Amino acid sequence: MTKHDVCDVVIIGAGPAGAIAASMLVQQGWNTIVVERETFPRFSIGESLLPHCMEFVEQAGMLDALNANAEKLGFQFKNGAAFFRNGERSDFDFEDKFSPGPGTTFQVKRAAFDKLLADEAEKLGAQIRYQHTVEEVVSNDDGATLIISTAQEKYQLKTRFVLDASGFGRVLPRLLDLNVASDLPPRKAVFTHFKDNIPADAHFDRQKILITVHPQIEDLWYWLIPFSDGTSSLGVVARPELFNDDQALEEQLLAYIAQDTNLKELLKNAEILQPAKMIGGYAANVKSLFGPSYALLGNAGEFLDPVFSSGVTIAMRSAVSAAGLVTRQLNGEQVDWQADYADGLKKGIDVFKTFVTSWYDTSFQNVIFFQAEGSEIKPMITSILAGYAWDDNNPFVKNAHRGIRMLTKLCEAD
Ligand code: FAD
Repeated sequence: MTKHDVCDVVIIGAGPAGAIAASMLVQQGWNTIVVERETFPRFSIGESLLPHCMEFVEQAGMLDALNANAEKLGFQFKNGAAFFRNGERSDFDFEDKFSPGPGTTFQVKRAAFDKLLADEAEKLGAQIRYQHTVEEVVSNDDGATLIISTAQEKYQLKTRFVLDASGFGRVLPRLLDLNVASDLPPRKAVFTHFKDNIPADAHFDRQKILITVHPQIEDLWYWLIPFSDGTSSLGVVARPELFNDDQALEEQLLAYIAQDTNLKELLKNAEILQPAKMIGGYAANVKSLFGPSYALLGNAGEFLDPVFSSGVTIAMRSAVSAAGLVTRQLNGEQVDWQADYADGLKKGIDVFKTFVTSWYDTSFQNVIFFQAEGSEIKPMITSILAGYAWDDNNPFVKNAHRGIRMLTKLCEAD
């Protein structure tokens, strides 16, 4: 190992968290190297964004590029979420939310979206080393040393700070023994992309993600995420035992679609574009979101569940927050990572967790399908569905448990 590179910040992974953090840091003048084991574009799951994440795209200086390229890349303008269960439908328009901030966003093919963000980070001055894999990390209060491998060599990278944005790769949790089990039960998702051929006159709003609850199995749900080029992403999420290891994934996916009359009708002319994939065991947690000269971003820290499409928003929020703190620390300020990073980030994650848990025990599903006339509460729920889980002015953020309990009683009394 002959090569020894030195920089201010190393970021592991060039997904949304890594690209946003890199952009913020280079704009503060820090020499930032992103180490990414794949070449982009590469597939990633997580295609429905939430409006709150547009604030972070803007802060990173990438909003103009996103808006300018959205149509060309098949990104679908998104203004809300629609829910369907046994003939009941409930729509949430994000523009009607309680919290301030953007009310629209996109549904994106992640290969193209992640490449766009990474390319923008490079244009702003970040160095991205594709096909470089982080193998080892040793960190202390003065900085960190990483061992990186490529097809040709292994080399050392010395840095003042490391941000782990390695997503499901969970590099630092693995290498530094930070992993702890999530308290959410395990689930699996099977998914693919279709040329959907959904007729223009169908009762289907392409500007919204459609979440469908299985007609009999209340904790099994489907996503249908349309893109603007006539294709859609469709996935089924369920307890692991509801998938059969011996049956082809595509067969299982089509069988579940056929069990819901609305999805069956919408997708009756659909053509599958790629082999179905499965991902499982994705809920994860860590002992700590930071340590000496490192912090964990996005999925490398805690990941909950896909039902409210919160993953990319949490990833980007963590990136912006950590980048600001790294700047302060590198400038010689004392940073309280627990109070200023972990506690703040965790607050919103815990709000999402309350809603995720009550989705699966069906209490929040009942709230979603409860149609209260002129309800003052709906904008507050809409805010959370739009990603604004850190807005303390929203009573459902301030005390999510109490909010859900109160709504459940309201629905039962009706
Ligand atoms: P990633 O986007 O995963 O990026 C991590 C990068 O790190 C990768 O490019 C990887 O190659 C690289 N890497 C890994 N290991 C190494 C290494 N050793 N060295 C160098 N590089 C490395 N979120 C949403 O917002 N909306 C959704 O609709 C949604 N749907 C989902 C559906 C499912 C079934 C699941 C499981 C998740 C879903 N998510 C969704 C969550 C979303 O996938 C993640 O939250 C998001 O991709 C996290 O971004 P990230 O930047 O943290 O990590």
